[in-house]
Amino acid sequence: MQDAPAKIQNSRQKLVHPSLCEGAYRGELREGDHVEYTLMDKKNRHRPLDECWLFATLEPCSPGSRNAPKIPCSERIVNARIVKVWFGEEDLALKDDFGGVAFLKKNHIEVGL
Ligand SMILES: [Zn+2]
Repeated sequence: MQDAPAKIQNSRQKLVHPSLCEGAYRGELREGDHVEYTLMDKKNRHRPLDECWLFATLEPCSPGSRNAPKIPCSERIVNARIVKVWFGEEDLALKDDFGGVAFLKKNHIEVGL
């Protein structure tokens, strides 16, 4: 994988499972796409992702932060049945602090900071 342009290097993620370890970054395949969408729905749509862990530099976006029909990343994570999410920092652009994380915890996903 080539290095991402400097402006998007702060938004990277890695999906880890005993049989899978793959990374992505924001806008990797299409400008503006959130990294969760790229990683889970574009690169790994054909795979079951339950039991995977997700490592992210930034808090996943929360319900209510995206306009329909876009799906917020925290909802994508729940739908993919990811079991654990680690993230590096709070997304200060979100409307409600730690809204994405609260949604994950409400849906029984373990979260580490
Ligand atoms: Zn998002």
